[in-house]
Amino acid sequence: MIQYLTYGVSPFQQNCRIVFCSDNSNAVIVDPGDSARELSLELDRLHLNPVAILLTHGHQDHAGGAPELSRILNIDIIGPEKGDAFLLEGMCYQGQMLGLPPVDNFAPDRWVSDNEELDLKLNEPFRVIHTPGHTPGGVCYYLEKSGLLLSGDTLFAGSVGRTDFPRGNARDLVNSITRKIFCLPDGVKVLSGHGPETTVGNEKKDNPSLSYMKRLLE
Ligand SMILES: [Zn+2]
Repeated sequence: MIQYLTYGVSPFQQNCRIVFCSDNSNAVIVDPGDSARELSLELDRLHLNPVAILLTHGHQDHAGGAPELSRILNIDIIGPEKGDAFLLEGMCYQGQMLGLPPVDNFAPDRWVSDNEELDLKLNEPFRVIHTPGHTPGGVCYYLEKSGLLLSGDTLFAGSVGRTDFPRGNARDLVNSITRKIFCLPDGVKVLSGHGPETTVGNEKKDNPSLSYMKRLLE
């Protein structure tokens, strides 16, 4: 059975998640933020076996600590989609822009692409849904059987990701949400990169930021 734990990391209280299979104890760390050391201790404490680091997109509050965690645990960094290469390769500039401590530039061990199914040995594949808009290479990870969507900064409870960062695009974001997320079952739990959890059904019914953005684009 798939389970997950949420940790607020970075000065932006980004929701890092440890997603694990309670049958075999394999775990992935989604968007570790700046908390490599703390997360590695936590995995030890929980007696989990880390198999990979997944990134939803290339912003520093999500991805900054991934290389350090990868070194500590000796596991690969997977994702985002390669449209975010400019962010990971320019990580040192993001710190200046966001007012965060500087971290090194890096590239993941592998990029992901739309619709790809990742077998991470958790007894359920992670399907990649490419959702550009907040960033060009942003992705969500969908666990169909468990009804979970790791949505990064694409969709939040009652809100959507910002599109005013470099290479953000409001039209792409609206299309990603309405065409690629809202076609999922209403009961799917949305685990966002910031703020509380929600469901696809709740956001379809009422998401003021999305309605506003749609009106602006008309
Ligand atoms: Zn972001």
